[in-house]
Amino acid sequence: MVQDHSRVFQDLILVYPVISRRSQGLSIGINLNPDKRCNFDCVYCEVDRRTPGRASVVDVDLLREELRWLVRFSLEGGLAQLPKFCEVPELTRVVRDLAFSGDGEPTMIPNFSACVQVAVDVKREFHLEAAKLVLITDSAGLDKADVRAGLELMAQNQGEFWCKLDAGTEPYFRTVNRSFIRLERILKNLTQTAQRWPIIVQSLFLKVQGEVMSPAELEAYCGRLRDIVAAGGTIREVHAYTIARPTPEPWATKLSRVELEQIATTIRAQTELPVRVFD
Ligand code: SF4
Repeated sequence: MVQDHSRVFQDLILVYPVISRRSQGLSIGINLNPDKRCNFDCVYCEVDRRTPGRASVVDVDLLREELRWLVRFSLEGGLAQLPKFCEVPELTRVVRDLAFSGDGEPTMIPNFSACVQVAVDVKREFHLEAAKLVLITDSAGLDKADVRAGLELMAQNQGEFWCKLDAGTEPYFRTVNRSFIRLERILKNLTQTAQRWPIIVQSLFLKVQGEVMSPAELEAYCGRLRDIVAAGGTIREVHAYTIARPTPEPWATKLSRVELEQIATTIRAQTELPVRVFD
């Protein structure tokens, strides 16, 4: 698989192509945060905030133009010609998903639902019936009215919601995600979203100062997942993964495959949810 997840492709500002293991093929990323704004400050964040962002607002006309260009380029075989994708040319002609992701938190922008509408329109225009619309989110903004409208639109168009949860307690949440938002709000948003639509929980496990997540923290984390389900929420799957690239904090380090599998086994046992491991 191509490992370069660079979000700067040619001169495009708002979209980028990625061969993604989780999508099992070509994912067109939609970067709704070219300004690199996020309401988390995760210790493992890969976004390079030493260089300034390329734009401060999402212009929906520009998004439409760039997305149409990149989808057409991919379908016509343009990506397959590029050295970056030469290992997997056969994967580049099928768009598996359009994913709201990028250099920050997508739900922070004021015109989220308008951006979803653009993706829906382009999906229809290019007959990408099987392609999913994926939102990769830290869940902090899932309670906003415009975001809820966007989620509704996504759900009507093969939407999937991939929601981050890395902690079970407020102190650990503050250590790893370093947000000014309280964990309780994140959990409330996760629960309300999961009550309406199935969600996928994405959890990054790591070593903090050489220590894996403690049994008490992992128990609390599993308890949070059980709470969501007990409240009538549907968690379709848990994706357990670890750090893939160097982090801004040298004390935040990767788990071994064995350590990650052990955590996944505990989650399965304590929640009875399906857990997929990505390392
Ligand atoms: S939520 Fe994502 S973009 Fe924001 S700090 Fe964490 S890893 Fe980075």
